[in-house]
Amino acid sequence: MGKLTAQEAKLTGWLSSQQDAMLELLCELVNIDSGSYDKGGVEQVGQRLIRFFEEHGLVVALEPHETFAPAIHVRLDAAPANERPIVLMGHRDTVFAKGEAARRPFRIDNGRAYGPGVSDMKSGLVMNAFVLAAMKRFGGAPAPLVGLITSDEEIASPSSRPIIERVARAARCVFNAEPGRPSGNVVTGRKGGVFMRFEVFGKAAHSGGAFEKGISAIGELAHKIVAMHQVTDLGRGVTVNVGTVAGGQSVNTTAPHAEGQIDLRYIKPADRALALASLQDIVDAATVPGTTARLQILGEFLPLTTTGAAEELFVGYQAAAADLGLGIAGEFTGGCADSGFSAGVGCPTLCATGPVGGNAHTPEEYLEVGSLVPRAQALALAIMRLPPVPA
Ligand SMILES: [Zn+2]
Repeated sequence: MGKLTAQEAKLTGWLSSQQDAMLELLCELVNIDSGSYDKGGVEQVGQRLIRFFEEHGLVVALEPHETFAPAIHVRLDAAPANERPIVLMGHRDTVFAKGEAARRPFRIDNGRAYGPGVSDMKSGLVMNAFVLAAMKRFGGAPAPLVGLITSDEEIASPSSRPIIERVARAARCVFNAEPGRPSGNVVTGRKGGVFMRFEVFGKAAHSGGAFEKGISAIGELAHKIVAMHQVTDLGRGVTVNVGTVAGGQSVNTTAPHAEGQIDLRYIKPADRALALASLQDIVDAATVPGTTARLQILGEFLPLTTTGAAEELFVGYQAAAADLGLGIAGEFTGGCADSGFSAGVGCPTLCATGPVGGNAHTPEEYLEVGSLVPRAQALALAIMRLPPVPA
């Protein structure tokens, strides 16, 4: 660590003394259930973080929502600033149902921590919180540093998307604390995703006594699924997956209704419209005469696309991490995240700066405990070394 200035050494030194405090906070956060629709639980996680921020002299503002828990904005102080802020972003909802934390409370075994949301992304929130606290304590950010903690990323951010876009439009850059890849790498590109539901309507009839009067929605659904899957173009990174189906009313009735859910992923923004048009055509064309159908978008993420400014942000982060002895590369993933929304409005964004973990959304989800401090240090150093005036 010979390449650090005195102030950098002081700040990163303080962070390295905070591992136990980080783990204590993480333990508390993991042990609170916070599924996206569990407004009370997501609020409780927020309350615990707000207590941390207040203890460290940070300024908190809430942006409430009727259905979901509020977005939390964090600033180092109340002084007004004209410069574009650096944003540390993270979500505090998880994919897990109520009761999961009681069944599988936070635990550490052999250098790995476990529990619902431990790496996706409560450890990222803890890391961001400590970096904010460190900057408050020691200074060193070349522009106002702010935190944004959202509440509904795991369901495609219905309430947070407009907030993220507004904050990102005014920001200099965004670091999103999704978990670092198992390799330790960060994420410089993500696919976009559109989650849809399609319904097919037919006509019920006794399939023994009045077969010819029936119109099978299930029969039509089957044709549509085969056609939809053919929209997949692996060469372009476009994939279509019908992930759930349901329909029919009894074995001896032609099905009056059937439905399915579709996950479309793409890389190039232009492919979104092309694929959606193909899917709409399939929904509109009936192979089984007499059926009708409709398509509905349930939620979506934009792709995290690489721009020159985003590449610069990554290179700066990589260099800072290298000075701490960490070899970090950028990876592309088909998984979606809020970073697509900040990148989508043109804000340079780096994703997966959080502590390293894996197996997200499963009971085997883990966090590499030893990565908490180094990832916090790398992030802090990357922030401190951003050029004083945006290019
Ligand atoms: Zn996440």
